[in-house]
Amino acid sequence: MTEAKKRILVVEDEEDILALLHFNLIKAGFSADCAENGEEALAQIAAKSPDLILLDLMLPGIGGLEVCRRLRSGESGSEIPIIMLTACGEEEDVVRGLELGADDYMTKPFSIKVLLARIQTVLRRKSFLQQETDAEELIRAALSIHPGRNLVQVEGRPVELTFTEFKVLEVLARKPGWVFTRYQLVNAVRGEDYIVTDRAVDVQIAGLRKKLGRCGHYIETVRGVGYRFQEGA
Ligand code: CA
Repeated sequence: MTEAKKRILVVEDEEDILALLHFNLIKAGFSADCAENGEEALAQIAAKSPDLILLDLMLPGIGGLEVCRRLRSGESGSEIPIIMLTACGEEEDVVRGLELGADDYMTKPFSIKVLLARIQTVLRRKSFLQQETDAEELIRAALSIHPGRNLVQVEGRPVELTFTEFKVLEVLARKPGWVFTRYQLVNAVRGEDYIVTDRAVDVQIAGLRKKLGRCGHYIETVRGVGYRFQEGA
C-alpha cells in the first residue's frame, strides 16, 4: 500500500542549503516546497498546510522564531511539527524556539542522514498523537482507564478526574516509557475551549498524581523534558 507523500516546507534564505535540502527531501520520497523568508513561509503554510516545516531561524524580514510564535499562537497550522535549522551560537534562540513549541532543531552544518531520521521521528510522534481515541480499556497494573466511558479506577475504585486530567493520563498511559513534552501534552488535550499552558500542565500532573493515590508514582517527571508513564507499570 502506498502512503501519500508527506509534504515538507523548507524555509531557508541561503540558496545552496535550500537547494540541497530540496534535492535530498525529494530523493527520500517527500514532497518539498520552499520559502526564502518568513512572509513567504506563512503564506505557504496557510495555502498548503505542510506535514512538517524545516525552519531556518535567521531569515530576512519576519525571522524564524516569529514564524514559530505566530504558528503556535495562531489558527491554521498551529500543530504542524517544526524542526528549526540553526547556526552555531544560537543556543538562546534554540531554547526560545523550543519554548514556543518547535519540536526539534538541527545545528548547521548538519548531516542530511541525521536530519532525515529526525524528520521521520517527528512525523511518527505526530501521527501517534493524532490517532483517534481508542475506546479500548487500558490496564496498567493497579490502574484501569476506560477511554470510552471517561472512567478511571485505582484498584477497582473509581477516581474522579477532570477532562484535562483524564486526557493527560490517557495520552501518557497509552505509551508507557515514552517521554512527552509539556507542549505535546498541551496539544493532546486541546479541543477544550480554554488555554492550557506549560505551567498548567505541571499543575494538572500534580493534581492527577494526588488523585491516583497509590498509582500516582506511575507518572514520572523527566527533568528538563516532560513526563512519562512508568514503563512496566
Ligand atoms: Ca539564514
